[in-house]
Amino acid sequence: MKKLEQLYEGKAKKVFATDDPNVVIVSYKDDATAFNGEKKGTILGKGAINNKMTNNLMQRLEQAGVPTHFLEQLSDRETAVKKVTIVPLEVIVRNISAGSFAKRYGVEEGIPFSQPTFELSYKNDDLGDPLLNDSHALALGLATREELDLIRSYALKINELLKGFMKEIGIDLVDFKLEFGKTADGTIVLADEISPDTCRLWDENTHEKLDKDRFRRDMGGAEEAYEEVMRRLMGDR
Ligand code: UDP
Repeated sequence: MKKLEQLYEGKAKKVFATDDPNVVIVSYKDDATAFNGEKKGTILGKGAINNKMTNNLMQRLEQAGVPTHFLEQLSDRETAVKKVTIVPLEVIVRNISAGSFAKRYGVEEGIPFSQPTFELSYKNDDLGDPLLNDSHALALGLATREELDLIRSYALKINELLKGFMKEIGIDLVDFKLEFGKTADGTIVLADEISPDTCRLWDENTHEKLDKDRFRRDMGGAEEAYEEVMRRLMGDR
């Protein structure tokens, strides 16, 4: 497969065309942003960690019956994935209160829920990714009823699987964000990434934050936290 021109550069990844119209290459950067791009910085080594961790988790999800865009890891930072049109929704599942949930509803962080919450935001930087419900998504034509139902069932299944993978390595999965895409034939697949950039991960014993909140909140130790998750998940690969 041949890497061709750059199609897109996002906050954390670049996307390149290939000689196969159904395949693109994603290249993960060390750049970190928060608060809708207002805060910018670098987490050294993050690109390679997020690439390898995403691929490890997507392959395990795929084996458990969740379709994903993953095709083949090409290098530390680069992966071939199915070309999709991203459904412009941020799909967020929560198991423990934190972040915008705690703020919006005026509760402390760290309260475990009896069942997971499921929420959607409109993926639109200019509008600050506003929260929306199914009827809003349908009114805006962002997805069909069938697609929304499928996305919800995949997201909740992914939550159960990821919670298990993290528990095995002594981590509580607090919350996470997913993005889904549509392949040329209309199939909905899990896309984007699953990493400490997109998940809140707390050590089950010390409750230490092992995710991007270390960067967002200027706590220091973001590099070490990402490396720690990677080491627990995959050894030193
Ligand atoms: N998240 C993300 N990208 C976003 C917004 C949120 O990956 O643009 C992730 C975030 O890392 C967390 C979860 O989604 O694991 C829930 O985030 P929340 O709504 O609490 O927003 P935040 O506090 O990050 O602004």
